[in-house]
Amino acid sequence: MSGKGAAVFCLVIACSSLLCAVAIMVLGPRTAARLAESTEWPTTEGSITASKRAVAGRFRWRPSIVYEYTVGGVEYKSECQPYSVPTGTKDEIDAYVARNPVGKSVTVWYDPDDPRFIVLEPGVPEGFRRQQIAGVIVLGAFGLVMLLGAWTKSAQHASTSKVQFLPEPVTCACGKMMKVPVSFQGKMAKCPGCGKAFVVPAAPTADEGGATKP
Ligand SMILES: [Zn+2]
Repeated sequence: MSGKGAAVFCLVIACSSLLCAVAIMVLGPRTAARLAESTEWPTTEGSITASKRAVAGRFRWRPSIVYEYTVGGVEYKSECQPYSVPTGTKDEIDAYVARNPVGKSVTVWYDPDDPRFIVLEPGVPEGFRRQQIAGVIVLGAFGLVMLLGAWTKSAQHASTSKVQFLPEPVTCACGKMMKVPVSFQGKMAKCPGCGKAFVVPAAPTADEGGATKP
């Protein structure tokens, strides 16, 4: 990847991480407030219509359980909010799923303003705020590291893409003066004025090979 490409890549990752951190900061307290209210929510009897293990991250799993319930004559099918179910190892989640088979009846707390939003245990789950804070810290730190990476890579790119010229211009036999990149020292070059080839002096003080100094 070129220096510029790497810098842009880092910048994109940095921005998405920082945006996620901000989203958690904004939405987290709102969700926490909603969950805190859930102790006052109405309940209804529901039943499990699907129950399986789902991936919750690298080497982490969570139960994916769908509940069917009726509120005001309307039938709903909802999955419990991801943060209100446990995550764990394959075995732990398989055991959880086995305790919650299809057909089992459950009491569902539902948000009266939006009955699709349900919890099975009212209140803010233990560790919810801690998880949110940890998420903000991890995403924020990662975002800042990537931002620093983007800055470093773009600075590197700028320094490597800057061409270094010889301190003294080279003058051709035809009188044309040229700024010559350092990388041309001791190599053949072509005068843009007369088109004649000449050898760029190997050192800035050298004065040979067809090019002369004034
Ligand atoms: Zn010339």
